[in-house]
Amino acid sequence: MRSFIYPYCCICGRFTRRGLLCLNCSPPKPLDPKNRCTYCFDDTSDCVQCVKLKPKFESFRFLYDFQDVKHIIRFLKFNPSSAVAKILGNELKIIAKNIPRDFDYIVPAPISNASLFERGFNQSYILASKISKTLNVPLLNPLSKLSPPQSLLPPEKRVSPKIVSKIALDEDTHVLLVDDVLTTGGTALASLNALGCKASLLVLSSASKNFPFLLRAV
Ligand SMILES: [Zn+2]
Ligand SMILES: [Zn+2]
Repeated sequence: MRSFIYPYCCICGRFTRRGLLCLNCSPPKPLDPKNRCTYCFDDTSDCVQCVKLKPKFESFRFLYDFQDVKHIIRFLKFNPSSAVAKILGNELKIIAKNIPRDFDYIVPAPISNASLFERGFNQSYILASKISKTLNVPLLNPLSKLSPPQSLLPPEKRVSPKIVSKIALDEDTHVLLVDDVLTTGGTALASLNALGCKASLLVLSSASKNFPFLLRAV
């Protein structure tokens, strides 16, 4: 898509003929899921840890190394730019198609009620709705996060987020949970518990190098 009227990168503001994002701000090619563990996305297709310990999620994928896209993730958190979300949503949907499962619903991970009030939108909802439309799988938005944003708290005060679901899903239902970034894994695991069904997890990026371990946490 080209922005003829406003030919400036919407993240850094530099002049660009490329469209919405300049070369510096554009996301790189997504990581190749080949030769990575289906369950925890660790850098091996022969993941001994996942054979030993059953992972919480049916599968896990992320698209980018955090350092490559942290500027986009930050931008999305505070700008409900459907155009930028669309670029990322397009990449997410390609990856989502490659997860070998049929999903009953696409579910956005919640942000805290305080953040929702402050920003007026949930960036994961925007991403999830793009995937829902493309895969033609219904979007379901039943989750609320009742605890305050953990990023505002010092590390020693951070607790597992309290997440509730408005509806109860059958335990055989399989949803694709979509989030922008995996940090501690707390939101993803609390969302899974609140949903009470099977879930695969798809995020733009993992901010922690420890993601295989986080998603196996009890
Ligand atoms: Zn830029
Ligand atoms: Zn694994």
